[in-house]
Amino acid sequence: MRLLLLGGTGEARDLAARLVGDGVDVTSSLAGRVARPRLPVGTVRIGGFGGVDGLRAALTRFDAVVDATHPFAAGMTANAAAACTDVPLLRLERPGWDPDPRWHLVDTHDAAAAAAADLGARPFLTIGRQELARFVPALRRRQVLARVVDAPDLDLPSPWRLVTSRGPYTLDGELAVLRGHGSDVLVTKDSGGSHTWPKLQAAADLAIPVVVVRRPAGPIGVTTVHTVDEAVAWVRERA
Ligand code: NAP
Repeated sequence: MRLLLLGGTGEARDLAARLVGDGVDVTSSLAGRVARPRLPVGTVRIGGFGGVDGLRAALTRFDAVVDATHPFAAGMTANAAAACTDVPLLRLERPGWDPDPRWHLVDTHDAAAAAAADLGARPFLTIGRQELARFVPALRRRQVLARVVDAPDLDLPSPWRLVTSRGPYTLDGELAVLRGHGSDVLVTKDSGGSHTWPKLQAAADLAIPVVVVRRPAGPIGVTTVHTVDEAVAWVRERA
């Protein structure tokens, strides 16, 4: 069984470790966005495939595909759904967070920027490097704290402060960040999982409003599971 595992998530690394242990020939694929990625076990390839056609050409070397990319990596997920016409495809997507009724849920990052501008003067942005530019127009003059894994290739407004770090985070650490910055609104996307959850608990504890970007719609007609165990079972059935 030669498996192509579209990764870039903790679940993808866990799945690679489980399947390599089972003797599956796993090739994990990373986009190459992060300077020092945490590498999964097994074979790793890095970089885009060149759209749907490039991915389809690469699939001749594989018997099955698991798309375990991040819930917001909608482009890769759509490409996988389009390319895997002759190869079995599974989507592994961690569940979203249970919404708190106090959260301000929005559908787009632009709407999140507008909501943050309405709600606070000192936003804490945790929406990822690639989306930061979309927050600049609405929050140019706010005292923004932006937390990203790698610094963006973007001139940030002078009142903004950038911190680079990578989770997992703790509740005490997140309380210290929110208090230290004096944050009055937290902006995040519904990544789900436990690694970045503590900021939401910290915001609730400090009664700070929260803006959450909803997930993009998942792929239509693709078998989807929510846990690594279910993905392991799917691969074993085919191996
Ligand atoms: P995206 O917008 O959905 O994908 C854009 C393009 O990047 C894809 O068309 C593909 O290029 C390439 N790409 C994406 N994921 C890839 C992968 N695993 N292997 C090879 N090429 C890939 O993706 P994104 O949101 O930039 O995410 C990029 C990576 O970061 C993904 O692996 C994702 O799991 C991880 N990640 C994303 C987020 C997030 O918030 N978006 C958060 C944490 C981790 P081609 O068309 O050339 O094939």
